[in-house]
Amino acid sequence: MKIAVDVDGVLINLMVEWLRIYNNKYNDNKRLADIKKWAFYEDFGISKQECYNIFHLIKLKDVPEIEPEVYRCLNIINKKHDVDIVTARRESARKELVHKLQTMNIWQGKQYDNLVIVDYEPHTNKKDLDYNVYIDDSPELAIALSSMRSAKKCIVLYTQPWNHHINQYGNNCIARADDWKEVLKWLKQFPCEWAE
Ligand SMILES: [Mg+2]
Repeated sequence: MKIAVDVDGVLINLMVEWLRIYNNKYNDNKRLADIKKWAFYEDFGISKQECYNIFHLIKLKDVPEIEPEVYRCLNIINKKHDVDIVTARRESARKELVHKLQTMNIWQGKQYDNLVIVDYEPHTNKKDLDYNVYIDDSPELAIALSSMRSAKKCIVLYTQPWNHHINQYGNNCIARADDWKEVLKWLKQFPCEWAE
C-alpha cells in the first residue's frame, strides 16, 4: 500500500508550541483541549492570517515529538509498505523539517521514502494524491476522503482534540487511532471491511 504520513499532530505536537507563542503574545492560558476545530482561530478571536503568522514563528527544534520512538513504528510500516511523509508547509521549510525528523531518528530511505510538501490550502488537497491510506489528524481530510469512497482511500485518524467530532463507526473508511500502537494495529488489518 502507498501510505501518506502527516507531520503536524501526527509525528510532532506542533500545536503545543503554537499555543506557547500565542499565550505569551496575548497573555492567555489556552490549552490543547481548547482547540476544538480545524478553524480554531475563530474561537480564539484572531484572524486566519494571525494564526498563520504564529505558525511561521515556530522553530521546529522547540516542538515536542508526538510519542517517544515513533521511528520504530515507521520503520515497521515502511518495510512492508511505501511510506511518504506528506505535509502542508512552505517549501522553504523542507530543510528544517528534514533535520527535525532526523533528530527523531526518522530517516529518508529507512522510515520513509519521500518527503512531499503540499500547499496549505485547500486543507483537503492531499486527498487527490496517489495514496491508499492516510495517517493524519485532519477532520477535513477525513470528511473529504469519506465522500470519495469509490476511490478506495482510507484514513487512520490520529486522535486530537480538533477531530473528536469525527465518528469512525459512522463511516467505513475512517479508523481512529489514539496512539501509534493503534496505527500499527489498523494497518495490519488492512484491507478489511472498513476499507471496502
Ligand atoms: Mg496534521
